Amino acid sequence: MVQKHRATALHYDFRLEAGGVLVSWAVPKGPSLDPKVKRLAMAVEDHPLDYARFEGVIPEGEYGGGTVMVWDIGTYELEGDEDFAKAFERGELTFTLRGKKLKGRWTLIRTRGRQWLLFKRTDRYASKDHEITAEKPRSVLSRRLLAGIARDEGGDVAKAATGDPRGRGP
Ligand code: MN
Repeated sequence: MVQKHRATALHYDFRLEAGGVLVSWAVPKGPSLDPKVKRLAMAVEDHPLDYARFEGVIPEGEYGGGTVMVWDIGTYELEGDEDFAKAFERGELTFTLRGKKLKGRWTLIRTRGRQWLLFKRTDRYASKDHEITAEKPRSVLSRRLLAGIARDEGGDVAKAATGDPRGRGP
C-alpha cells in the first residue's frame, strides 16, 4: 500500500507487507509509470500491519505530524526464488503490484545506505504520458483529497492542501 503523507514535506510512503510488518520507503516525488524515471525511495522504519488502512491526521509535534491518505492499496507478488528478507538484504526487489492505481512490474534497488530507487518495469501498465500522482490524487478508501481529510479530522487544511493538485478543493 501507499500512503500520501503531508508532513514536514510531502511524500509517498510505499509499504510492502513482509515478515509480519509493513517494510517501508518514503518516496518524495511518488511513483512514476515511466520506466525511465527512477524515483528516490528512502528506507524508513517498519510499520505495524494495522497501520495499512490508517487515514487521518497525526498531531503536529508527533513523529510524522501532518495528514495521511491511503493513496493506493492492494496485493503484491515478489519475483524470483529468494524470500523477501534475502532480496531486501541483497538490495533488489522486483515484484508485481495489484493495487487500485499501481499495477504491473516494479523494482526497488538499493543504491547506498538507506537510499533506494523505485521504478516501473516495462509492461502494459507502463506509460510515459501519465503522471499518476497528479491524475489520481484521491484516497482509494474515501475518495477524499488531503485537504478534505485534514478538514474532516481536525488537521491543518491549508498545509494539507499544498499536497493536492492546484485548483481542487477538499
Ligand atoms: Mn511518512
